[in-house]
Amino acid sequence: MKPHNALAEPAVDRRSERRGDAEWLAGRLADSGSLLTIVWRERSLVIDAYGDRGPAPGTVPVTAASALVEQSGELVYLGDAGGRSYFSIDLSDRDEPLTGSLRGAGRLVELRQVGAAMSAADGNLLAYARAMATWHRRHRFCGRCGGPTTSRNAGHLRACSGCGAEHFPRTDPAVIMLVHTTGRDNACLLGRQASWPPGMFSALAGFVEPGESLESAVAREVQEETGIAVDSVEYHSSQPWPFPTSIMLGFFAASPGGDVQVDSEEIEHAVWVRRSELEVALRTREVRLPPPFSIARRLIDDWLRDER
Ligand SMILES: [Zn+2]
Repeated sequence: MKPHNALAEPAVDRRSERRGDAEWLAGRLADSGSLLTIVWRERSLVIDAYGDRGPAPGTVPVTAASALVEQSGELVYLGDAGGRSYFSIDLSDRDEPLTGSLRGAGRLVELRQVGAAMSAADGNLLAYARAMATWHRRHRFCGRCGGPTTSRNAGHLRACSGCGAEHFPRTDPAVIMLVHTTGRDNACLLGRQASWPPGMFSALAGFVEPGESLESAVAREVQEETGIAVDSVEYHSSQPWPFPTSIMLGFFAASPGGDVQVDSEEIEHAVWVRRSELEVALRTREVRLPPPFSIARRLIDDWLRDER
């Protein structure tokens, strides 16, 4: 099995069979070992762990935050790990989230700023909590009748009080693909957006549309952005990307090559780069790639090493 992408190693056993078990959940909430993670707007609670381990998810015992839990109401049961149960709470409606029992609990940071320095499992816990918080925030009303919804099943369902519809947590699929030609010293297709720092290039990406297969989405996005045709699509790996609601699905896409015709609305420039040229351009810093945190970098690095 390949190493996990950043944010992608399961942090907890989700134990979905327990989500509807009110008695079991009450027991876990009363357990002094159960822990609460905090989400506040676009930020997550982290602590600075000692040594070279880097930042780690910040948590407080659920029992120490019972007043907070009562006020805010909606908790999400994330799962169990190491004999502990993990819950999360969204404090976005507070202007000052780290007061009272949360004073000194850690600092609130954007996951993208610290995720690269965390283990894939620690990052996963925060990605999971943030994705759930965003879903709850955006589904307070029923998409069918407009009625208010309430959280059920330990935060894994919102039920409409008007029509009774049940709404489940969602994630939006996005494809990210490194297009490459085949053969000796083959080339890959890298693109850049006008807003990126000078010299920064990455793999192409786009959202999957309704009624579309993943491989069709890969071929369509590449065609739309660069005018390049794709022959075959090979799955690589995936990464939860809760910024705000996606999962990134990574692919290699083989292409016969051809002239690039950039759609300037989406990307500013795209270019075929041979493996040997890219290695030189990286050494001389003429070209910069996205950080190792991103699946885009993983795709490019694996292609450079010819590990597909
Ligand atoms: Zn409804």
